[in-house]
Amino acid sequence: MAEDIKQGESFEFQAEIKKLLNILSHSLYTHKEVFLRELISNASDALTKMRYYSLSNPDYEGKDLPLEIHIDVDEKNKILTISDTGIGMTRDEVVQNVGTIAKSGSLEFIANLSEQARKDSNIIGQFGVGFYSVFMVADEVRIRTRSYNKDEPACEWHSDGTGKYFLNPVEKEKRGTDIVVHLKEDEKEYTDKSRIQSIIKKYSNFVSFPIMVCGERANQITAIWKEPKKNITDEQYNEFYKFISNTEDTPLFRLHTSAEAPIQFSSILYCPSMNYETYGFKKLEHGLQLYSNKILIQSDCKMLLPEYLRFIRGVVDSADIPLNISRETFQDNRMIQKMKGILVKQIITLLQELDKNEKEKYETFWRQFGRILKEGVHFDFENRDPLAQLLRFNSSQCADASGLVSLKEYVGRMKPEQKEIYYITAVNRDTIEKSPYLEIFRKKEVEVLYLTDPNDEFILSGLHEFEQKPIRSADQANLDLLKDGDKKIVDVSEEPQNYEEIFKHLLKTVKVTLADRVMDVKESSRLVDSPCCLVNPDGVPSVHVQKLIQMMDSNYKISKKIMEINRKNRMIQNLSRMNENPSCQPLIEKIVHQLFENALMQDGVVFDPTSMVPRLNELMEELTKAVLGEGKKIII
Ligand code: ADP
Ligand code: MG
Repeated sequence: MAEDIKQGESFEFQAEIKKLLNILSHSLYTHKEVFLRELISNASDALTKMRYYSLSNPDYEGKDLPLEIHIDVDEKNKILTISDTGIGMTRDEVVQNVGTIAKSGSLEFIANLSEQARKDSNIIGQFGVGFYSVFMVADEVRIRTRSYNKDEPACEWHSDGTGKYFLNPVEKEKRGTDIVVHLKEDEKEYTDKSRIQSIIKKYSNFVSFPIMVCGERANQITAIWKEPKKNITDEQYNEFYKFISNTEDTPLFRLHTSAEAPIQFSSILYCPSMNYETYGFKKLEHGLQLYSNKILIQSDCKMLLPEYLRFIRGVVDSADIPLNISRETFQDNRMIQKMKGILVKQIITLLQELDKNEKEKYETFWRQFGRILKEGVHFDFENRDPLAQLLRFNSSQCADASGLVSLKEYVGRMKPEQKEIYYITAVNRDTIEKSPYLEIFRKKEVEVLYLTDPNDEFILSGLHEFEQKPIRSADQANLDLLKDGDKKIVDVSEEPQNYEEIFKHLLKTVKVTLADRVMDVKESSRLVDSPCCLVNPDGVPSVHVQKLIQMMDSNYKISKKIMEINRKNRMIQNLSRMNENPSCQPLIEKIVHQLFENALMQDGVVFDPTSMVPRLNELMEELTKAVLGEGKKIII
């Protein structure tokens, strides 16, 4: 619908954009030249959309226009103009697309980046704030644009990149968009033709539309994925990677393949050398470029790879994909599903080979992307086994927190009598190593996997077993390892008289005292030094995981545990003796509650200090009295 544009209508930028512009003009980007990459990428997007629209709609503005990008300069007035014959924008679209940040969270993300990371021009391309980067070099920008929609008048947007922008009606004959950049005084270099050409070579060489700089073709459109591998140099591969991933790093590895059956397609896939998600805790947008016989149909096709491979960049080209496939039908398209299956298998095979032949490189990969890849064990049932083999964990056998162990290695060095694979979960290695659950494993020299990523336990417990060995959490009550544990650990010679009997009494007292705070109280066969610990009944997730569930659901109650008591511990032995004397009961009760809460704290469950602190004070009072000989003398 046509709309009248009031002369000189002025608008305030969304507050987010003002902040963004401020950040951009002060700290972002060491390479300002990337603004050109961003403008060309927008032009290319607009052209791709136009081509896509034209495939199924006969009636639109400027039917005969070639799909091209033109860059022209006015050296005298320091003006650079980037024009495209893309889809253009209506007045409302300009307000919508250029006046607001569409991708929510982008600004927040950038504002939270460290100073160093902000300067990294690799990062900006990932977060969809490309257009505004032009204000690093411009003190005024005009957008003249005319939509493919015949009924819409052309319109002009202009701004100096501070608080406001203006909209005006404008005469524009051709469909598409001109970005007119008035360069700042000291940014004259961007009117230099050879400087522009070299920037295009560097970042935009593979844009699949002609880029004409002052009438001369500046990019080569080579579909390198269609070439035989031997014709392509490493440099070309890397250049292409930089182009499609909008970064300047070199990929960790690449995969150039073509398939003939069941469907014909060629692809080049790359694994970046770093994981940008680790900067910002949020999921990256992902997607491969999808071509149909060298014609780009979608630059962010998410359907070609599962979420857990979202870090992979690349192109896929298949003549079997219809040019006018709509976004909605991608999901149901059998070809796409098949290609996806093949691509996933190819990537997994490559990772397996890396794992086998270049262990160090695989570990480098794992440190960057392991946390994403492992989601696959959970979600991709079909490839679960090979993915499980690719998993890595830290373990009690590693010298420090950086060591990595595979499940295969673990199984390979299991003790002959060991039947289960054991893991323990906590926030970090230090905490795990202090855990009482580990005591028996140390004593028996059984390896334990150390899980420090919150997802690990979900993944391992979902896996249930590996090479027919059940996977168990070390804090479970009935571990195979404990079957014959007690006899070996307990050295009866050091025990007090009739210990068997008085220890049993103590267990009863503890159970009565704690009542419904615990599920049961038992003699422990796993503890060596600690007086007690809390273990989980079978089938209940570890406390660590329960705490995560609680963070998401505040009504969730951490399940009750079984308290295990170490009969060998000196304090427990003393308590057993005191327990035989009725006058000690009040003190024993306090100690038992305190022991229980100590064990909870050891599991990282924070307890209400208002009841604990007075109790601790009372206990300390008893202690000081005992030391000064003022307490009740009890003969036991
Ligand atoms: P992104 O490209 O990641 O969406 P940008 O800040 O680069 O973010 O651009 C914002 C939006 O402005 C684009 O999504 C698009 O809708 C619109 N836009 C920018 N340049 C053009 C252009 N040359 N032709 C048509 N639309 C454009
Ligand atoms: Mg953009």
